[in-house]
Amino acid sequence: QFSDARITASGPSEEEEPDGRAQPVQVLVVKDDHSFELDEAALSRILLAEEVRDREVVAVSVAGAFRKGKSFLMDFMLRYMYSQGSDDWLGDPDDPLVGFSWRGGSERETTGIQIWSEVFLVDKPDGRKVAVLLMDTQGTFDSQSTLRDSATVFALSTMISSMQVYNISQNVQEDDLQHLQLFTEYGRLAMEETFLKPFQSLIFLVRDWSFPYEFPYGQEGGMKFLEKRLKNQHEELQNVRKHIHSCFTNISCFLMPHPGLKVATNPHFDGRLKEIDRDFISNLRILVPWLLSPQNLDLKEINGNNITCRGLLEYFKAYIKIYQG
Ligand code: GDP
Ligand code: MG
Repeated sequence: QFSDARITASGPSEEEEPDGRAQPVQVLVVKDDHSFELDEAALSRILLAEEVRDREVVAVSVAGAFRKGKSFLMDFMLRYMYSQGSDDWLGDPDDPLVGFSWRGGSERETTGIQIWSEVFLVDKPDGRKVAVLLMDTQGTFDSQSTLRDSATVFALSTMISSMQVYNISQNVQEDDLQHLQLFTEYGRLAMEETFLKPFQSLIFLVRDWSFPYEFPYGQEGGMKFLEKRLKNQHEELQNVRKHIHSCFTNISCFLMPHPGLKVATNPHFDGRLKEIDRDFISNLRILVPWLLSPQNLDLKEINGNNITCRGLLEYFKAYIKIYQG
């Protein structure tokens, strides 16, 4: 059912490198003194490009700590978007993976938000042509101060996005839930002042899931796992659970297998499919369309209204102001 989807890259919105290719653009940086810097010019170039600025927007964020395979996943999301949803979107087994991660030097370990410079245009099944923005939200959690920075960045990306993919490793740990509570608490407090609407979709994406015999890979196993994980907890976590449920309209979970030792440990690995475990690839084939196929894309809503790229830019600026105090 994806084959009739026409997904096109919007040429004019490209934030071009000298070689003319699209790239990740750091639009929000947390600096060493914990202040925030929004690259308004870069964000405007992306969101105010003629073809996209008046389109309703879907903002997909993948958020989580560094070195947990976010960029790796996002590069496959890019392949899906660029291949216009065709059946062989995964591409050639020998093609190196490019995009967010393996573009020499483009990935700095900076707490903040990167946006793919090309906004994609997608035809929803109801005939609407919508704009799709891909965001990479990353933080570090190794000290009190970086935890606070990360929480703020995650809160911002949760407010900006319509789909927040929370990328975590191996399991849903108590830490992950507490971080999430902190992010959403920040966000909810900020929104209370101006807007009533809760957040939209939260997708727990568990990487390197190693108990498929207990809960199978994929979305169904994920949901069962998440329900169990969030139940039967001591009081504190019960509150986290209630809190998360009160913040998001949709909550889901997907369990991903380990991609194999070449991916995890070989420094010369360049992302080619041939060297990735088969189980991982077959679940990638399910995960990416589950997130990004035209009928599954959630439009960004604020106070119950869909908003355009132009509108999103304004909200972005307004939200940043809240945190800048
Ligand atoms: P990011 O910092 O979260 O964007 O992580 P990257 O996508 O840059 O990946 C960090 C490292 O983890 C790379 O060496 C990847 O090859 C590897 N990697 C990617 N996906 C996975 C995964 O699902 N599991 C494991 N164990 N490693 C992965
Ligand atoms: Mg990355």
